Amino acid sequence: MSRPWGLVLAGVLAAATLLTAAGCRRQAPQAADEQRPVTLPNRTVRVLCYHNLRDRAANLYETSVADFRSQLRILREGGFRAITIRELADYLSNVQDIPEKSVAITFDDGYKSALTVAKPILDEFGFRATLFLITDTVGGKRNLTWEDVKQLAAAGWDVGSHTVTHSNLTRRSRGESSGQHQERIVREISASYARIEKELGVPPVALAYPFGNYDAACMQACRDAGYRVALSIAPGAVDQQSDPWRLPRKMVVNGTSVRSFERALAVEPLHLADMDPPVGQHVKGSVYLLSARLADADASGALGVDAGRKARLQLDTATNLLTVSATLNKGANLVRVFSSSTPRREAGWIVVSDP
Ligand SMILES: [Zn+2]
Repeated sequence: MSRPWGLVLAGVLAAATLLTAAGCRRQAPQAADEQRPVTLPNRTVRVLCYHNLRDRAANLYETSVADFRSQLRILREGGFRAITIRELADYLSNVQDIPEKSVAITFDDGYKSALTVAKPILDEFGFRATLFLITDTVGGKRNLTWEDVKQLAAAGWDVGSHTVTHSNLTRRSRGESSGQHQERIVREISASYARIEKELGVPPVALAYPFGNYDAACMQACRDAGYRVALSIAPGAVDQQSDPWRLPRKMVVNGTSVRSFERALAVEPLHLADMDPPVGQHVKGSVYLLSARLADADASGALGVDAGRKARLQLDTATNLLTVSATLNKGANLVRVFSSSTPRREAGWIVVSDP
């Protein structure tokens, strides 16, 4: 750790361990060093989500080596530094600062190519990344083995959970009772935590929800298991005000254009306060009506919404009260509110509609 910005003191590291053990955040470390800043500067961090890398991308979730290289070049030319999700979690809990222009690169599903293809290229750029492993599939065909994962961890990569089997946590399986569903959520989230801790000797700090889907039960299970943050694939960017249990990520897929990649690196979070219903609460039937207070003065000009069918957005400029109405599909729906002002702002969240 020889970064000029990372003036980490031993006391802070000890406090970070305490924070991890307690599974909490935004709480003053108990053994706080007097030189530790109480509040770190607010920074925007974009998190990128990759899956598999190949010479030639054959499906949506594969990125070609050429595209990957050109995306890393864009990051380097933009002056970005790559941080791990562990460093991001430390930043969000005020333990340690991060570079002003930080980006986090993540790989879902545990493909072998993270080690054989991505790592040598990332090394050339001096970047490290974070893996999200489906713990039951480690060692499978085309996947990393635990020895591979240890090698990446030893090289400074962070290792998080993508659950035990990648089951859709917000959908009840056929014949599954509500109680069995709740048990499955807890098992997928906590058993993968235990497995990573057992294999690597270090507990994970982060979980990436399968398919990006979550609800209040998933968020609570992450908190209870000992994670410090969880990530979705809703659009937007992370800052100090982000909900740590649903951090947004930009999905980089086969065909992600340079323009879309650059736009993701410039997006700022759209801040909504007092959301009603709160994020994570299921909706009965297809009618969704949200009210929230818009906290960004620069965003009121050009707001838009994207959610299910017939999505509509209204803003009362006198009170900054925003209302969103939409007709949702059964199951998990992504609701996205954006402003096309400068800077572009985005917020996204999952709403689960029960029949
Ligand atoms: Zn996945």
